[in-house]
Amino acid sequence: MNDTLNNSDAMSFGGGGFGGLGNFGKSNAKVYVKSTEGIKFDDVAGEDEAKENLTEIVSYLKNPAKYKEIGATMPKGILLVGPPGTGKTMLAKAVAGEADVPFFSMSGSEFVEMFVGMGASKVRDLFKQAKEKAPCIVFIDEIDAIGKKRDGGNLGGNDEREQTLNQLLTEMDGFEGNTGVMILAATNRPESLDPALTRPGRFDRRVPVELPDLKGREDILKVHAKKVKTSDAIDYNKVARMASGSSGAELANIVNEAALRAVRDGRKAVTQADLEESIEVVIAGYQKKNAIMTDHEKMVVSYHEIGHALVAAKQTNSAPVTKITIIPRTSGALGYTMQVDEGNHYLMTKEELENKIATLTGGRAAEEVVFGDVTTGASNDIEQATKIARQMIARFGMSDFDMVAFETVTNQYLGGDASLAASSDTQRKIDEEVVALVKKQHQKAINILNENKDKLHELAKFLYLNETITGEQFMEILNKKD
Ligand code: ADP
Ligand code: ZN
Repeated sequence: MNDTLNNSDAMSFGGGGFGGLGNFGKSNAKVYVKSTEGIKFDDVAGEDEAKENLTEIVSYLKNPAKYKEIGATMPKGILLVGPPGTGKTMLAKAVAGEADVPFFSMSGSEFVEMFVGMGASKVRDLFKQAKEKAPCIVFIDEIDAIGKKRDGGNLGGNDEREQTLNQLLTEMDGFEGNTGVMILAATNRPESLDPALTRPGRFDRRVPVELPDLKGREDILKVHAKKVKTSDAIDYNKVARMASGSSGAELANIVNEAALRAVRDGRKAVTQADLEESIEVVIAGYQKKNAIMTDHEKMVVSYHEIGHALVAAKQTNSAPVTKITIIPRTSGALGYTMQVDEGNHYLMTKEELENKIATLTGGRAAEEVVFGDVTTGASNDIEQATKIARQMIARFGMSDFDMVAFETVTNQYLGGDASLAASSDTQRKIDEEVVALVKKQHQKAINILNENKDKLHELAKFLYLNETITGEQFMEILNKKD
């Protein structure tokens, strides 16, 4: 009974791990392996930020004593967060490879199909071995399969998963931070994880592993093209451009598909045409859940994001931008995020809040200025802008209502719901003021963009072509005199 339950659960959580069915008969099989593949950071193309994040771990694994001496503790667990096929497993292996330590791995989905009690004992066994072999890496793929939130309502529940999860938590709490066992786990849905897993002392560090941008895709293609025979004149940049939105795994597959195509045609080397043809085959084959952005959408998103950044930069005369990207991000609700952060300090002036509203409207304003039409892409901006405007008026006394609070936060620690205490007439006036305030800032944003239209076009074009723009690149283009 429990078995069937577990198995169906494994299927719905399968992700890339078809283990759910294939391994069903061999529940007794070892779920961890010691890898000797020798993967290094250089084999993982792109993903520079993730690699940078992980170099500290490598240095720690090479010499745990150095950290012990000074009294620094390393996080025990690190969560690699990102879409499937972006190289999370590779990165974990590369950390082991760089540090030259053993690599143990198991997949979350393998546990849910086991008989009750098996998962927990496997986990115990795994950690016993790991502690003997420390320093080492323990890699848990698809951790969401065992670590998803426990919902009380689930009749019967999934005992196996819970026991496995509990054992994992026990193991993590049971060893000191400096034993040299480093646990890396991969997931593409961090929000579904049981909060017990992400508590301090457990998986308290997150490393985003995002889809590659144009340069990243080009590099990944080149890494994989080295493994096949290619003709001389291949324009990898063009292929990378055409494969917009692809993951590392898909790009690896594109190269392989191209090689197969060459063989079918009886040729000795992969050509440009082979690669281009393969893109469609691979991408159609994967049936992407999140459809790839069309060229026009990419253009609109580029203008939108630059709109935010340009309005922000012009108001503060500084580089507000860390990095902007039009590659769908794990964290972004709409698939892409503006990374303009004007800093939330303790005290914000009225002017700063107004500027913030203007910046939030900057994305939509750019769409209006350039395309004369608007999209749904600004919904989150609108929500945020409205919230700030309402707070300014009803809570911060930054309007003609003077220092009168209409809104009071009822439960500051539980979500911070605000309740409105105003006569219906005042409520109407507050609404009007909110609208007027946002309108004024929106108009300011439009004016800023109209006055800087050349820069808007130039910056948006750069972002469209490169898919990412750093703060320095942004300011360089902005300050360039032509
Ligand atoms: P994930 O664990 O994120 O699902 P994997 O690490 O298993 O992804 O990647 C699957 C395959 O895709 C790898 O074996 C490799 O061939 C290819 N791949 C993915 N990302 C990269 C990358 N950044 N550089 C080179 N190859 C990659
Ligand atoms: Zn926006």
